Amino acid sequence: MKQKLLLPRFLLRENLSKLARNLRFLGYDSAIYKQISFDNFKRIAARDKRIILTRSHQEAHAKSDLKIILINSDQVDEQVQEISSILKFDPVFIFSRCSLCNKILYEIAKEKIINSVPEYVLTHHSHFRICRFCGHIYWEGDHYQAIHRRMKNLVEDGKS
Ligand SMILES: [Zn+2]
Repeated sequence: MKQKLLLPRFLLRENLSKLARNLRFLGYDSAIYKQISFDNFKRIAARDKRIILTRSHQEAHAKSDLKIILINSDQVDEQVQEISSILKFDPVFIFSRCSLCNKILYEIAKEKIINSVPEYVLTHHSHFRICRFCGHIYWEGDHYQAIHRRMKNLVEDGKS
């Protein structure tokens, strides 16, 4: 758990919601606040010690002590690669956070989710995690494997 504190945390403008989801897949705390002024946005970033990600040149070049990174691409894969120098792919953190609401996931016993996931999933999987905030349940199925591979490639290719 201690290592988790060392991961950078992000604050993203709301037009970067896909990038936020992808950063959450990697385990990064990636918050989005909708419809707030850039001043309030900066206040939150300063308070929570978050790196700001924005697509606005004006915001990226604003005078500030905060770390603000301009995201140029409108393609999510390229967006991940743009910041891959400050990212790392660590399997320990993959799917440690809800991609929908950014909350930490908790392990949950199979018996407790019998009515919440399809039967074939119960048959083939034994480890499950749940978001206590939105109730979404995660398991390491095909979808997980695909995201795992995709994120690894994006982060590691982006560095080279
Ligand atoms: Zn959630």
